[in-house]
Amino acid sequence: MGVNSQAWHALQKELSESAVLVAVSKIRQPEEILALYNLGQRDFGENYVQELVDKQSKLPDDIRWHFIGHLQSNKVKQIISFAYLIQGVDSLKLLKEINKQAAKMGRTVNVLLQVHIAVEESKFGLDEGELTEIMQQKDALPGVKICGLMGMASNTDDTEKVRLEFRKLHEVFNGYQELPDFRILSMGMSGDYALALEEGSNMVRIGSLLFGRRN
Ligand SMILES: *Cc1c(COP(=O)(O)O)cnc(C)c1O
Repeated sequence: MGVNSQAWHALQKELSESAVLVAVSKIRQPEEILALYNLGQRDFGENYVQELVDKQSKLPDDIRWHFIGHLQSNKVKQIISFAYLIQGVDSLKLLKEINKQAAKMGRTVNVLLQVHIAVEESKFGLDEGELTEIMQQKDALPGVKICGLMGMASNTDDTEKVRLEFRKLHEVFNGYQELPDFRILSMGMSGDYALALEEGSNMVRIGSLLFGRRN
């Protein structure tokens, strides 16, 4: 299975200045990642800590590694020194642990909070009350910079439903626009990124469109 360079070029053109493309490389071999890297791709997203640690050690240093999976607090240590953006932070406990480990490293780590928007499915993510609570406590956590929100829509052919979920997330995002660091709205995957862009996404996370289907 090769990398679809045509799809990459087309996507970059389509997104141009309006959104960042994160190439989701979970399960993919380092050689496949390198093939995209050689086209110019620098942002890659991984879901599993051990896999990310292995790949990071083998691949170029200027790759911006996004952690997009469900991160367990006890694994934060392993990625804290190099993670570019930890997306999908879905609890205050996890945020506090990232803050603690970041402080030990003397760095500030960029994160996105994951909000639960999929009506039908019970995916990970904060509800609005939990989000509000975290945002109230953020000033006590100087080791993390909350850069915005991430969300996943329902996995359904009902495009109207998906659209409304994305729209909802955009509205929540808009509620924090007075914060200077709060600029990233990460929503949209291979199957729904076009809708996400229409609803205001400025970061898409795309795997299968670039690398082929995962088996
Ligand atoms: C796997 C994954 C993606 C990419 O999914 P594709 O359908 O392959 O584009 C995006 N976001 C998250 C959080 C993922 O786990």
